[in-house]
Amino acid sequence: MPQKSKAAEQNRRKKPKWQQTIAKERIEILFDEAAKQAKKKNLDLSNRYVKLARKISMRYQVRIPKHLKRRFCKYCYSYLQPGVTCRQRIKDKIITIKCFSCKRIIRYPIGKR
Ligand SMILES: [Zn+2]
Repeated sequence: MPQKSKAAEQNRRKKPKWQQTIAKERIEILFDEAAKQAKKKNLDLSNRYVKLARKISMRYQVRIPKHLKRRFCKYCYSYLQPGVTCRQRIKDKIITIKCFSCKRIIRYPIGKR
């Protein structure tokens, strides 16, 4: 079935630019919403928004912006709100984040581009 394989190939190909732009905007909105919910301690909701944002990024092959990547746990994908769902410390130009839901530690260097 040549028609079917052609469709499959098109799916794998990159999505049009305008769709990727919208996808990126949606990711930003979802993280904004997640932050609001985390502050209200609606952690289930904020984790759901992270999940949705990740789904969009995979579906449209867009990267989650760097500043947003640090806002969720890279192991369990739960939203990281310092003082609520994680503990944040800075030591020797390294940010150490401890995720409360999976107890793992994430480290980011600061001032490095
Ligand atoms: Zn975690």
